[in-house]
Amino acid sequence: AQRGAPAEWNGVGATADGHAVNIVANIGSVADARTAVEAGAQGVGLFRTEFCYLAADDEPPVATQRSAYGAILAPFTGRPVVVRTLDAGADKPLAFLNMGVEPNPALGVRGVRVSFDRQGVLDRQLEAIAGAAADSGADVSVMAPMVSTASEAAWFAGRVRAAGLGRAGVMIEVPAAALSAREILEVVDFVSIGTNDLAQYVFAADRMAGALAALNDPWQPALLRLVGMVGEAGAELGKPVGVCGEAAADPLLARVLVGLGVTSLSMVPAAVTGVGAAVAGGSLDACRRAAEAALGAADPAEARQRAREALG
Ligand code: PEP
Ligand code: MG
Repeated sequence: AQRGAPAEWNGVGATADGHAVNIVANIGSVADARTAVEAGAQGVGLFRTEFCYLAADDEPPVATQRSAYGAILAPFTGRPVVVRTLDAGADKPLAFLNMGVEPNPALGVRGVRVSFDRQGVLDRQLEAIAGAAADSGADVSVMAPMVSTASEAAWFAGRVRAAGLGRAGVMIEVPAAALSAREILEVVDFVSIGTNDLAQYVFAADRMAGALAALNDPWQPALLRLVGMVGEAGAELGKPVGVCGEAAADPLLARVLVGLGVTSLSMVPAAVTGVGAAVAGGSLDACRRAAEAALGAADPAEARQRAREALG
């Protein structure tokens, strides 16, 4: 448990001095949705839709997609849910997309890149999401994975609005996107940082390679500096900046992320209570001091140590 944090979380996503931080869950199934609600999540920060289709040989019809998404959204009537469009490719090949073999799939046609020459797949998915949003009454936003540039973000936001969906965002998980956070936030309503892929691409270290796990440590100061850049852009433009990678599930790191300007933390349901309590356990200023301390560290171990000391 976190020193200084209350043993129980009261379910309100905020620092001790009332700065709002959404404490939301990552889900991919009806079972996850139920677990997230039971855990006290305020909503969903990442619904990984590709998990519904890993076994599909053909593109599921819109009606099938609509009812699959609707069943997962049902427990979230009136609550915020961020639905991510298909993140196929690399570690998640989808049979129905016939993606072919690439020598370097993590750097290949994956995520939103699949949609550029198959816009119909995206538009049908967005139609199904819009239907499921209406069926469930959930407060749905949609975001794209693996966006690299502001023009890709603008293109995606255009498709989302054409589908009649209200809010469009993108994931920040390619270093170029983090470096263009301001330009991206000018054309979308929010961003969410995928620290798993962002670390992989920043350190040129395959996230599945156990031997490179130390480079993929979310406490790496270089990764935290990029998060801070995105946080600053969000604050300047007055738009939400989330984190939905594993980093958000670490109660100590969660406070550092808040200090870097992150306004929403999305995580495995099991981490919700601990992170909610940790964020509530101190002020926004304390989070900022912890962030400042971590940014100046030479390595992940020192960043952790400095953040812990700063939070007393
Ligand atoms: C991430 O990359 O951090 C992320 C949340 O997306 P996924 O783990 O599904 O690639
Ligand atoms: Mg990712």
